[in-house]
Formats: sequence, structure tokens, C-alpha cells
Amino acid sequence: MSLLSLNAIETAIGQYAVLHQVSLEVCEGGVFVLLGRNGAGKTTTLRSIMGLWRPSAGSVVFQGQDMRGLHTAEIARLGIAYVPESMGIFGGLTVEENLILATRNGRFDQERLKRIWQLFPALERFWSKQAWSLSGGQKQMLSVARAIIEPRKLILVDEPTKGLAPAIVDAMMEAFRDISQTTTILLVEQNFEFAKSLGRDMAVIEDGRVVHTGSMADFARDTALQNRLLSLSAS
Ligand code: ATP
Repeated sequence: MSLLSLNAIETAIGQYAVLHQVSLEVCEGGVFVLLGRNGAGKTTTLRSIMGLWRPSAGSVVFQGQDMRGLHTAEIARLGIAYVPESMGIFGGLTVEENLILATRNGRFDQERLKRIWQLFPALERFWSKQAWSLSGGQKQMLSVARAIIEPRKLILVDEPTKGLAPAIVDAMMEAFRDISQTTTILLVEQNFEFAKSLGRDMAVIEDGRVVHTGSMADFARDTALQNRLLSLSAS
């Protein structure tokens, strides 16, 4: 069942047209991966879904609802969370405070909190530490935890493994695998191994246009296509 559809959206940043007729169909459940070279328009796609950039044409439909004209906060309230590449955490606040701010009513659902601590034990360990003092990987965990501290239907995650050590990438992979059992994830990722092992469906964006869409299993087998679209080879 379709959860989110982008229908021929056009997004410009200032005078610069970035997205051209971008259409995507994200089905409910699992991980949908958006691939593409640097500057292809992946972040702009996520920001267009969240209403942070406004498409000038086309529509973004979530669970049958056309989200045109909705503010970002209203989009979030429909059950969509965004984990930006910059992580969006507050360095001067503790781990606990960062998470409280991400709740709807300032209170934790204890079951959800326990699940987050299971996924990311470091967050329990450093509960009262200011976020700036965490490692890069722990900051990324906090950023993801903020997105799932409330029940969500969809989370948009922008390059969560960027700059992380391999062991942390593995932990992140396990966490996303677990999260994707209950929440659909739209993942932008340059780490192809990570993307390949998590993704069910995928699309490639090039110069603001969708140039390929299909199953990750098929794409992972097609080395020639990967080379053409991403300039990488499969391993
Ligand atoms: P990356 O992997 O490097 O993050 P991306 O695929 O996410 O790339 P976007 O960040 O969506 O790409 O950028 C798409 C295009 O829009 C790029 O050419 C970029 O230079 C341009 N762009 C992005 N943000 C802005 C901005 N604030 N002002 C002007 N141009 C921008």
C-alpha cells in the first residue's frame, strides 16, 4: 500500500531549479533508499516532503492526503519525522532534554524510552551529559532517537552513516533494521553497502531527476547500472 507519493514535484531554491518532475512511490513498511551523487537533489527531496522547501508544482501525498500548503509542524503531526544530515540536536542540552523536546507533551512513554535505550545503550549511559560532549556516532543515535521518541509512520533520514566508524555503522544498521519493522524509513545514503543491506525499494536521482527506480535486490545485482548511475562497483 502506498504511504507517500511524490507526483512530478518541481522545487527551486531561489532562482535555481533543483528538482524536475520528481515522482516517487514509497510503500508502507521497510526501507526505501534514495541514491545519487553529491548535489543530485536528495536532501532537497526530503526537505520538499517536510515542507521546508515548497515545491512550485506537483504534489506530495501522504496516506491519501495532499500536503500542499501544510506547515512543517503540521506535516510532522501527521506522523513524519526528519533526521537531517546536520542531525538537528541541541549541543547545550543533555541527552534527556534533547529527547524531552522531541516529545509532544513533554513526557516520555516509558516503553518507547526503554526500546530506544535497547537500540542505543550509549544514550542511557550518557543520559545527563550535554549533547556536544557525545561522539559523532552517539550524536547520530540521539538524532535518530529524537525521531522515534513518538510513534511515527514515516521517518526521513539523511546520510546517517556519514563520517561514522565501521563499528558504529553496524550498530546503526541493526537499529534501522529494528525500527523498520514498525516504521517506514525513507533513507538517503551514500554508503552503498549500508543502503544495499537495508533497502527494499530504491530510486536514483541525477541532476534533480529520478533516473531509476526498482527493487534494491535487482539494483544490487546490476553492477553495470550501478557504475553508470553512481560510479561505483558492487562488492
Ligand atoms: P549531497 O549528497 O551533497 O548532500 P544532495 O543529493 O542531497 O547532495 P541537495 O543538497 O539536494 O543534493 O542539492 C541539490 C542542488 O541544490 C545542489 O546543486 C546544491 O548546490 C543546490 N542547493 C542545495 N541547497 C541550496 C541552497 N540553500 N542554496 C542554493 N542552492 C542549494
